[in-house]
Amino acid sequence: MGDVFFVPVSNGEDPSGVAKKVKYLYDHSRAGDRFKKGDFIAVKTHFGESTNTTHIKPVIVKVIIDKLKQAGTLPFLTETSTLYKGKRSNALDHTALAVEHGFGFDKMRVPLIMADGLFGDDETPVEINGKHFNKVNIAAQIAKVQGVMVISHFTGHMGTGFGGAIKNTGMGLASRRGKLKQHSTLSPQIDTGACNACGMCLEWCPQDTISMVDGKAYIHNENCIGCGECLAVCKFSAVRFNWGRESRVLQE
Ligand code: SF4
Ligand code: SF4
Repeated sequence: MGDVFFVPVSNGEDPSGVAKKVKYLYDHSRAGDRFKKGDFIAVKTHFGESTNTTHIKPVIVKVIIDKLKQAGTLPFLTETSTLYKGKRSNALDHTALAVEHGFGFDKMRVPLIMADGLFGDDETPVEINGKHFNKVNIAAQIAKVQGVMVISHFTGHMGTGFGGAIKNTGMGLASRRGKLKQHSTLSPQIDTGACNACGMCLEWCPQDTISMVDGKAYIHNENCIGCGECLAVCKFSAVRFNWGRESRVLQE
């Protein structure tokens, strides 16, 4: 485990002020020392959802990119497609959203290259011989670069409890197949007593594996990929996961 460095930042603080602190943090922690001149560095961050503003702001990410450039490395912004529906589920929509949020070349002065291709299936299997998987499927461009700089914001996550740098790397740099493997043990059920048949889960399920049966949502688990979208959109707490048992593989 390496050293951990902190700088205090207050809620609502101006991003340009935070950027100055991050610059200080970068210098003080010597975060860039491990990269060499000429190394291709994938700068992985989350460009934000279309419906919220909770992502690291471009001005802060740019400070780190500028530092990497000054050191003679070749940084580029990168991300992967999500399993769930929405504006981050393929490269075209995702990059358009990133530009909308200020991560375009005009502002960042580096390109944005989706690491897993147009549809999330550009991947490289990597042997790890781990506890749950012998091989993992990671986004193809990540397997080619000399370094990765991960810039993450703090967020709660239904499967892992907390989403930070480890999740941003482990899940965020996996290809679609890699993400599916991680979620494969999650198997939601509908509490028919709580379901009011609003249809939101049917609308958002990326697998279209939920239908109405006798006036209640029903999940056909054989096609479920365990993404948790149904849980996220249900306002009636009618979707149940057995987190204690089923999320263990995902967390480990
Ligand atoms: S979102 Fe919830 S309440 Fe609505 S249909 Fe699905 S399970 Fe039922
Ligand atoms: S049923 Fe729920 S967890 Fe399964 S694929 Fe659909 S939205 Fe994802």
